Amino acid sequence: MEILSLPGQSAKGKVWLVGAGPGDVELLTLKAWRILKSADAVLYDALVSQDILDLIPKDAEKIAVGKRAGKHSAAQDDINQLLVTKAYTRKNVVRLKGGDPFIFGRGGEELQTLVDAGVEFEVVPGITAASGTAAYTGIPLTHRDYAQGVTFITGHCQLESRPMDWQGYANPNNTLVVYMGILNAGVIRAGLINAGRSPQTPVAIVSKATTQSQQRFIGQLDSLEQLAADPKLQMPALMIIGEVVGLSETLNWFQPKAEGSQSLEALNAPKVAVKI
Ligand code: SAH
Repeated sequence: MEILSLPGQSAKGKVWLVGAGPGDVELLTLKAWRILKSADAVLYDALVSQDILDLIPKDAEKIAVGKRAGKHSAAQDDINQLLVTKAYTRKNVVRLKGGDPFIFGRGGEELQTLVDAGVEFEVVPGITAASGTAAYTGIPLTHRDYAQGVTFITGHCQLESRPMDWQGYANPNNTLVVYMGILNAGVIRAGLINAGRSPQTPVAIVSKATTQSQQRFIGQLDSLEQLAADPKLQMPALMIIGEVVGLSETLNWFQPKAEGSQSLEALNAPKVAVKI
């Protein structure tokens, strides 16, 4: 789709591509907060938490453009056009995204549109879901006794042009974090086990991480599908796969106010929902 801008006229406004972090309002950066407070218009995703939306000035225009799997929302082209249009009519336009805008956030695509339309921009990073989840469940992603690295992948496995590198992801010395993977838990389990990852590898599915509704579902790789199918599991949710997940048993510290505390069940229980 061609983006409409005004030839011969440059947009007076600026777009701030801002990461809102994973949910807990206190995980917003000071810079993000400062920019949000001076926003004239804010285009925000479905993943941005209400506590953060509450920080937007009352007189700023708030536009929900969130995308959620299976739910109707603004198309990416429309969002791109809206950003350009707002840059012509407003001074400080904030494009607010969950987590970090450059991690599975399509932030890059939106910036390319702004470049083409001659719109000025800045980027403010946010705490990505992997970091927020790891911290708030006591899973050090690269604890050196267990992992030499960590890989963030998308669980949208249907891209034929770029097939999943299961062999690479199955490296036992690596932690794997899967964004958007819940609906493909079976494909992910089979892909990793067929590529040689142990079926007993500890896994965690964590929903609404860093919020008062956070839930951990702990099990093993061969039970990934059952964990993902738990009716209590809410979206958004992230998977962490690797030996480091075992550390959650002792390092978990976060106690959401909503529910009482419960101790973590043994890792070898195939299906454990722990509302903490
Ligand atoms: N840009 C975002 C990711 C967007 S993709 C970031 O950096 O975090 C959306 C996926 O992120 C969701 O499907 C889920 O897998 C994950 N996610 C985002 N927020 C989350 C949260 N609070 N708890 C668990 N998973 C989350």
